[in-house]
Amino acid sequence: MTVTLCFDDAYKEVYTIGFPILKEYGIRGTLGIITNEIGGSFEGYPLMNLSQITELHNNGWEIASHSVTHPYLTSLTDEEVINELMNSRNALRDFGFKVNAFVVPYGNYDDRIKNLVKKYYYSCRPSILGTNSIPVEDRYMLKSKWVMNDSFETIKIWIDDAIANDNWLIIMLHNIDKPEREYNISSENLREVSQYLTEQKIKVLNISEVLNPPSIVIPLIISSAILLLILVLRKFK
Ligand SMILES: [Zn+2]
Repeated sequence: MTVTLCFDDAYKEVYTIGFPILKEYGIRGTLGIITNEIGGSFEGYPLMNLSQITELHNNGWEIASHSVTHPYLTSLTDEEVINELMNSRNALRDFGFKVNAFVVPYGNYDDRIKNLVKKYYYSCRPSILGTNSIPVEDRYMLKSKWVMNDSFETIKIWIDDAIANDNWLIIMLHNIDKPEREYNISSENLREVSQYLTEQKIKVLNISEVLNPPSIVIPLIISSAILLLILVLRKFK
């Protein structure tokens, strides 16, 4: 059983409030970055700047793309969608982050978007309510549960269900200590969740740690093997 904490939009307080709490418990999260708004804001709420994102990355957090401008992707042309997918990925890679996962703005997703996402990312988390079996059925349809000012008791039930079913639970989070926001968690509840995960000895991993995308090692082994084979064959000519 595994839990992932996925913070969409990368609000500033995830760095100032969330990161210190999670760090106390040795827990890391996944951040969904809107690349045009790094150091900017979303819906009037400030977002992390590059040095804050970099610090989280250096502390083992996963950096995922959440598009360039956070649009409704299904209302865009293929070319516009590709720009959102490719330019956000490239911007994050230029900053030195490994980017494998895409997090869909507003969960606005269909087969056309899915097929385009496949070209640029190893996985995708739209907004489909539920938990994931392991191995996952479709890594471009990762399910999640969304924290909307829920109590610790509610989140504890999600965790207990995932334990009982040996599932992968992705918890989708946004703001912290902004109770006026629909998708919010209080810092007290975030602490209680962190404490519970630690007490229960639950593995808290990033999306890509669960899915394990092929690293550079495998192509390296294959190419070395081919090279060796060529050399051997030449010798026996
Ligand atoms: Zn978002």
